[in-house]
Amino acid sequence: MKDLVLIGGGHSHAIVLKMFGMKPLPGVRLTLISDVLQAPYSGMLPGHVAGFYDYDECHIDLRSLAEFAGCHILVDRAIAIDFNKNLVICQTFPPVNFDVLSVDIGSTPSTLSVPGAAEYAIAAKPVPEFLDSWNQLISQRQNHPEKPLRIAIVGGGAGGVELALNMQSRLTKFGNGLYNGFNGF
Ligand SMILES: Cc1cc2nc3c(=O)[nH]c(=O)nc-3n(C[C@H](O)[C@H](O)[C@H](O)COP(=O)(O)OP(=O)(O)OC[C@H]3O[C@@H](n4cnc5c(N)ncnc54)[C@H](O)[C@@H]3O)c2cc1C
Repeated sequence: MKDLVLIGGGHSHAIVLKMFGMKPLPGVRLTLISDVLQAPYSGMLPGHVAGFYDYDECHIDLRSLAEFAGCHILVDRAIAIDFNKNLVICQTFPPVNFDVLSVDIGSTPSTLSVPGAAEYAIAAKPVPEFLDSWNQLISQRQNHPEKPLRIAIVGGGAGGVELALNMQSRLTKFGNGLYNGFNGF
């Protein structure tokens, strides 16, 4: 038996799990280490921000996907790799042995190297943190719709444009005329 360990349960490894479920590899034991059980599907994230999709519709349930793939899932954060002993060191659980390791923990915008970003900006990734902040902002709007609000988006790529349009769509639903709009990209 070879131990194939996947770190990160995002888009890439979700596809690996699906492929394994459809066509298992004999002699390979799969383990997934993921710090979340619900993996956000970012293609639908802007639509969720607008309120078109609910949480479940735009998240991948990693537990059922792992079950389909015959994969052991460990909900934990990988914090180090010991290449001498072929071990993944986890935050909570004991080290996980591997023969083959795939690390795909996605990307996170750097906030520390941009002055002011850590204080004022909300990064689009990690998505769970972004959604927490967005939901907080929405409930503040519901409680205090009279407060003026201005949002600036940093980054005018496809993701930034999608988020801008969908945030605007959601915020204008409050319909009180006090939403001041975006500062641009
Ligand atoms: C608003 C927005 C819209 C987008 N729309 C699209 C689109 O329409 N089409 C498209 O192709 N792409 C889109 N993208 C880009 C897409 O999200 C990425 O290309 C894709 O997520 C990369 O997949 P990944 O598996 O590398 O990483 P991710 O999907 O980011 O997954 C990484 C996973 O690893 C986990 N993780 C991180 N650190 C650890 C650790 N130490 N231990 C264990 N687990 C860990 C994270 O929690 C996460 O679940 C969009 C991105 C954004 C922000």
